[in-house]
Amino acid sequence: MKKIICIVLAVCLLFSALPLAFAQEGITVDGTWTILIPASPTSYESFAADKLKTVLTEVFGTEIAVVASAAEHYIAVGAASAADVSGVAVNGYRIKAIDGNIHINGTGVRGLQAGAYRFLEEFCGRKVYTSKITVLPTAESIAVPADTDIVYEPFFEYTDTDWRSPRDWEYSMANGLNGGPYRALPAEMGGSVNYLGGFCHTMCGLCETESFKDSHPEYLALHDGERTTDQPCLTNPDVLEIAKRNVLAIAAAHHDPNASVQIISVTQNDNYNYCECERCKAFEEAHGGVQSATMIHFVNQIADAVKEAGYDNIAIDTFAYQYTRKAPTGIAPRDNVIVRLCTIECCFAHALDDPFCAQNADLMKDLSDWSKICGRIYVWDYTTNYAHTCTVFPDFGVIRRNIQVFYENNVRGVYEEGNYYIDSCDTEFGELRAYMIAKCLQDPYCDIDSEIDGFLEAYYGPGWKNIRAALDMYTEYAGNKDGHLQIYFGSKDSMQLTDRQVAQIDRYWKNAKAAAETEEQLANIKRSEISWRFWKANLRKGEYSLANPKRYDEKQKLFNDIVASGASTISEGGYNDYQDCICVKYAPPDEWNDYEADEQGARTRLFFGKLLERFMPLLTALGFYYMIAKAVNNSDC
Ligand SMILES: [Zn+2]
Ligand SMILES: [Zn+2]
Repeated sequence: MKKIICIVLAVCLLFSALPLAFAQEGITVDGTWTILIPASPTSYESFAADKLKTVLTEVFGTEIAVVASAAEHYIAVGAASAADVSGVAVNGYRIKAIDGNIHINGTGVRGLQAGAYRFLEEFCGRKVYTSKITVLPTAESIAVPADTDIVYEPFFEYTDTDWRSPRDWEYSMANGLNGGPYRALPAEMGGSVNYLGGFCHTMCGLCETESFKDSHPEYLALHDGERTTDQPCLTNPDVLEIAKRNVLAIAAAHHDPNASVQIISVTQNDNYNYCECERCKAFEEAHGGVQSATMIHFVNQIADAVKEAGYDNIAIDTFAYQYTRKAPTGIAPRDNVIVRLCTIECCFAHALDDPFCAQNADLMKDLSDWSKICGRIYVWDYTTNYAHTCTVFPDFGVIRRNIQVFYENNVRGVYEEGNYYIDSCDTEFGELRAYMIAKCLQDPYCDIDSEIDGFLEAYYGPGWKNIRAALDMYTEYAGNKDGHLQIYFGSKDSMQLTDRQVAQIDRYWKNAKAAAETEEQLANIKRSEISWRFWKANLRKGEYSLANPKRYDEKQKLFNDIVASGASTISEGGYNDYQDCICVKYAPPDEWNDYEADEQGARTRLFFGKLLERFMPLLTALGFYYMIAKAVNNSDC
């Protein structure tokens, strides 16, 4: 993949202007310093030292040397350091100032490298906001307090998201993402937490349901009185043996004894056609009357086989998803079983632990029940609108709190599913959301407001405060009329704003564009603004209001801009091609997927739309009258 690294440089005069007294109390690191490594460094130590060297050379404008014997002032790395990490959890690190020098050490396969990146962020102000935007202030020297002693232990063993920039190695290292499915980090970077075999919905493949449908129909799920290849029968002992054999084959082919953890996914296929045979039903009745009972029973036996075969660092992953979301009773997952709880039904306007949101209270009950019987819960969470990806998805207010909720409920791994098809539809706030997610997974208690502000300034330029103000309003008015927000909502239910508020937000976008200094900033603003225009067009607000005689042209312009942005879809797969829509001027954008060129419905809509357009002056006058009437009636003008 071709990457263009755009380094944003800003001369930082702060440190050189510090009073001498302060400099004497702290440690002043400058171009005379060296990076100290052991005589025979590990690949981790070499990687961390090279990273420090490269970035510090850029900061100071002087070549920094990596040495194996101590010079006067040094940053010691790994075994060359005197930072004691004996009490630090696996993949954690310690950055400690000792006698005027700096010592960085880490544990596990990625702690040291993470420590080096933390040093660069904390003391050099280096921020990797996207795969193309890194902010790095230059300076003659940097100040490190003499009493520095930072200890970091990972909040989660697995952190993953599928937005665009997080797939980049450098971005992942700087922002603490380690999941294998979307970034195969090299060994010297600590490697990734990998799913061996498939990432999800692997059950039928592992049980070979398709190939046994004629010879052994009893291996298949009995659903609604018929055998189906959609799921296997989980209490059939032969099915268990087939799945065991396939899982052990995957383990044998991909096992890495040095990895911190490897995962094999044994997860139900994406449908509700679970087995209802007498044996399955009886087992479930005896264990809380829930389908997760047979699932855990099945997966436990596979996990035992994996353990018996000596694969101590391999965990078996299963879902608590849709029909398996509720925890069973009288049976508990083994220690080497991961239960991945999915939040697909949740509301994203309210935090998960908001007791007034019924959907979320339900999820919290399940999370609490699972946490009583499972020491290794992972979460599969959702962070975009899959049905209307172009519209504003105002979940910014819950991202950090929800990740805190996961951590506080003993969740050990988090996958934040987002717009994984962003290269086919990028018209919202993908890069911002990705950065927020990464930073919160790295530290759920980070100062997210300052992280957001830093990102906005780097990405949107000098007018960023306008975009912050718009985002704050989106967040405040997120959700339908009851304030709830789900991942398939139409624009109308995603956000509630009055005409006055719409006018205010229009001004924010206009101001942001006017202040842009570079082509990139302007392009970023215009791309994100599409989501705002898309939302307005659906609600007939702003330039799409009935009072604007040019409203149909505005909608055509919106369509053209979405096409020009490179969007080949406006929703997750499985929908019609929106570019087939022949009545874009007359249908709300949320419905563009519903009208194809060769459909009667589309032709009807086009016919009546054109007819209405001919009577535009009259309609506009009526629309204008309607708006005045609303204002007089003191409604939401
Ligand atoms: Zn069955
Ligand atoms: Zn809610």
